[in-house]
Amino acid sequence: MNLVLLGPPGAGKGTQAEKLIKEFQIPHISTGDMLREAIKNRTELGAQAEKYMTAGELVPDEVVIGIVAERLMQSDATGGFLLDGFPRPVPQARALDQFLQENGKALTAVVNIEVDPQILIARLSGRRVCGTCGAVYHVETKQAKEPGICDLCQGELIHRADDHEETVKNRLAVYSEQTEPLIQYYRESGLLLQVNGEKSIDEVYREIIQELRNRVDP
Ligand code: ADP
Ligand code: ADP
Ligand code: ZN
Repeated sequence: MNLVLLGPPGAGKGTQAEKLIKEFQIPHISTGDMLREAIKNRTELGAQAEKYMTAGELVPDEVVIGIVAERLMQSDATGGFLLDGFPRPVPQARALDQFLQENGKALTAVVNIEVDPQILIARLSGRRVCGTCGAVYHVETKQAKEPGICDLCQGELIHRADDHEETVKNRLAVYSEQTEPLIQYYRESGLLLQVNGEKSIDEVYREIIQELRNRVDP
């Protein structure tokens, strides 16, 4: 299963990814998580990415394409993978197609999670993430058992700086301008699966599984 999760910031990509990787036993490749890890570890990559992420802008393609290609070459990704947050602009999608073709692979499907912008703002302002393992929570819709503490690893839950309102607005604008064209791109290649992301977390998950079953075993 070689999957891409597509959708605006706050659509539920990370949340659904946590469930899908367990179901299919494939690695979760989140460019956002990889870039945040690089910033935390003060690497060269982190230094390159930080100013863009703080402003809610996209990190340059050559940087992001490089880290994804490297990650897809690792042995755990040879039997399948789930990409979350990549590709974003069309040139990244073209680079991914080229990379997969050169390595004798292809995408199984691209799952687009659709959610209204008003709902996205509420989701992002209430989002909390584990600073240690990246698990995703929400102050209302997905509370941790113990407030502020990750259920999975006891790490501390944080409110990402780019989830504050001003940056969120810019990220949504960047999504409309630069990432939304991917919907048409993948529709044309016949890979697109549309899912209504406004239902509960479990309902969205069931719809994704149903759509994937229809695709793989119609
Ligand atoms: P993305 O990775 O697409 O930016 P996340 O998975 O981080 O989105 O979800 C954004 C926020 O919305 C999180 O706080 C998450 O707990 C919450 N959330 C995700 N899916 C749903 C849903 N179906 N209903 C309600 N809240 C959700
Ligand atoms: P969200 O889960 O809310 O969609 P991400 O964690 O995926 O957010 O991304 C956070 C930030 O990391 C983005 O605003 C952007 O600055 C950077 N980023 C992540 N993935 C990419 C990518 N594929 N191309 C360029 N920048 C990226
Ligand atoms: Zn954790």
